[in-house]
Amino acid sequence: MAPMTTPGEEMHALVERLYPLCRSITGDGVRATLDIVGKYIPLQVHEVPTGTRVLDWTVPQEWNIRDAYVADASGRRVVDFAASSLHVLGYSVPVAATLPLSELRGHLHTLPEHPTWVPYRTSYYTPEWGFCLAQETLDALPDGDYEVRIDSTLADGHLTYAEHVVPGEVADEVIVSCHVCHPSLANDNLAGVAVAVHLAQELAERTPYHTYRFVFAPGTIGAITWLARNAERIDRVKHGLVLACAGDRGRLTYKRSRRGDAEIDRVMRYVLETSGRPHHIKEFTPYGYDERQYCSPGFDLGVGSLSRTPYAGYPEYHTSADNPDFVSPEAMEDTLAVCREAFAVLDRDRRYLNLSPYGEPQLGRRGLYDSLGGRSDAKQAQMAMLWVLSLSDGEHGLLDVAERAGLPFDTVADAADALRAAGLIKA
Ligand code: ZN
Repeated sequence: MAPMTTPGEEMHALVERLYPLCRSITGDGVRATLDIVGKYIPLQVHEVPTGTRVLDWTVPQEWNIRDAYVADASGRRVVDFAASSLHVLGYSVPVAATLPLSELRGHLHTLPEHPTWVPYRTSYYTPEWGFCLAQETLDALPDGDYEVRIDSTLADGHLTYAEHVVPGEVADEVIVSCHVCHPSLANDNLAGVAVAVHLAQELAERTPYHTYRFVFAPGTIGAITWLARNAERIDRVKHGLVLACAGDRGRLTYKRSRRGDAEIDRVMRYVLETSGRPHHIKEFTPYGYDERQYCSPGFDLGVGSLSRTPYAGYPEYHTSADNPDFVSPEAMEDTLAVCREAFAVLDRDRRYLNLSPYGEPQLGRRGLYDSLGGRSDAKQAQMAMLWVLSLSDGEHGLLDVAERAGLPFDTVADAADALRAAGLIKA
């Protein structure tokens, strides 16, 4: 029987469910988001108190908001936080005042080039208040007095982040990191979260080779907090991927780690190039999402970033037009598939040592040719065995073999499994 919903539809439903919440770098919006994610995969939620020193930073005061509006003289709300979390400047200090429009203008943010869209703005580290609205809404406001009210609190509290671990055969870890600090924006945070949730569910269906650690944390300060609290065990992190902007209809973009030649960089390039998908591979820059923290020289992790259209590369970026309609089930499914394929390579890529390196071992005598009988790619599979034997000098891994031989990675990995079972190579 056909499934009722596709993975893409399930991910899209999660995006829609999380979309209305008012997330920020701290506060109940992040907690509510993690509560919902926790219904799909079990989460370990961490609360780090305000004032905690994390690397060169300090956990800020916690921001919470209950209501906010601009109302005209008749009491009608012309800008209403209840309609969209984007309407309030993120981290706005509380305000209750009546102001003439001329004075209020200094606190209003619009996008004149897209008059029907509401921009996303924050002021995390400078105390300020403000509203974001469509230019056409502002243009329709007559002069006069307006009541402004932001019912928010900035107080000592906590920064919240969460982890989900899929235990593997080995303790070496792959981290998958997503930011969870943007309010009602679909592609820029929620699509990555939805893909990560699905990946975690899939990985748990069998024990993967690596241990997979999913980190759901507010951007910058959250990743810095995670790094500060995991610095002692950071050597366990062997590979990683930051997932962001994972659901728009554009082509895939992979941004290399700072190292540029980390295994994740080679695996992602291999998967993207051999899959025939339209894609773009970018060199590292110390900007973007949390790869810039994971790749900072003190940690220097092999962490790249996978997105579709990169941040700021589409007009809808950081506006109300980045809504659930902007992300598609098919695009999220495609991003999920690339992650799945890349992790399958990461999990099977090993270096082997040829135990019979003097001359070519006799494969027929060991039944290795017969084992290929049923395969439609018997010729390729035989070549793969010869290549694995040839390059298993302890210096080359199976991805090296696949690339040098021009053979599919899975064929090479299957050949290695057969050779290992026959006692001809060892890890
Ligand atoms: Zn963003």
